[in-house]
Amino acid sequence: MRWENLSDGPRQGTADAALFGADAVTTRTFDTPEFAGITFHEIRARSIVNRVPGASRMPFEWTVNPYRGCTHACVYCFARKTHSYLDLDTGIGFDSQIVVKVNAAELLRRQLASPRWHGDHIAMGTNVDCYQRAEGRYRLMPGIIEALRDRGNPFSILTKGTLILRDLDLLRQAAAVTDVGISVSVGFTDAELWRTIEPGTPAPERRLDVVRTLTDHGIGCGVLMAPVIPFLGDHPDQLRATVRAVAASGATSVTPLVLHLRPGAREWFMTWVKRHHPHLVRRYERLYAEGAYAPKWYQRRVTRHVHELAEEFGIGPTRAGGARRIRGPEQPEPEPAAGPTQLTLL
Ligand code: SF4
Repeated sequence: MRWENLSDGPRQGTADAALFGADAVTTRTFDTPEFAGITFHEIRARSIVNRVPGASRMPFEWTVNPYRGCTHACVYCFARKTHSYLDLDTGIGFDSQIVVKVNAAELLRRQLASPRWHGDHIAMGTNVDCYQRAEGRYRLMPGIIEALRDRGNPFSILTKGTLILRDLDLLRQAAAVTDVGISVSVGFTDAELWRTIEPGTPAPERRLDVVRTLTDHGIGCGVLMAPVIPFLGDHPDQLRATVRAVAASGATSVTPLVLHLRPGAREWFMTWVKRHHPHLVRRYERLYAEGAYAPKWYQRRVTRHVHELAEEFGIGPTRAGGARRIRGPEQPEPEPAAGPTQLTLL
């Protein structure tokens, strides 16, 4: 393991602290293969509960994000743009420069105890994955879940990470005292597509194993089938294979969501298309000619098809957001919020 404390260099430390809005920044790299090429910027954040911008159509108002950037490195990730707010690169930098709010749990515990906090639902995994690989080392989520459990504060988690199973006991304890909703994101089961477009994530089959395990332990879990990738993951055979696998996992619901290409993600995604599927460049340009979203007719076609398959395979009911809560409010809808708190397709 190599340690490099940039705070030792006052100019760099001061600049980074200003950049991250934190009191101190320590930068570390680790020599293990798992973290090769990854730089972690450890900060002591000043605030951890974020309010979703008022213009957002999200059905939740508050989020907690212990990390920024994500080693899961999904090419299409909608949170890429948020790295530019830190003056960091939105391409490879988003995948490899990870901001870690090391005091997330203690800060949350303090904020939940404030008389100004009214116990609203808190959504996690709405910006970047809280169970990305870094969580294996930093272990921020156990403290966060304990803080929520101890206050009986309702929450939800959306993830692609199998690491969530490490915290199964804590999730069960929290579910005994408050509303807990879990969703796992699996947009497709095509192995070749997975390897190239979601290179840092656990395989789709492993994520579905998570759904099965959670369900077996009494925690209902939905699947957010996101994103469905036009031309590469939307063939009827691919949709069928995915929904069949979701059904076999015991998921309580499946909710399809077609690829969005918002600024920050769009450039990186199109660079990837040019490299891996150059013959599709024009087709993507045409499909997303109007902006970040595929046309309504296309979205409706995919949604209808998946709903029919869900019915055929006996999953249901399908509804926005995917997760059946043990108790609690609806899951996020597929509309990213403006500004730094954005829904991503985990
Ligand atoms: S889509 Fe989710 S899992 Fe993938 S890189 Fe973005 S935040 Fe991470």
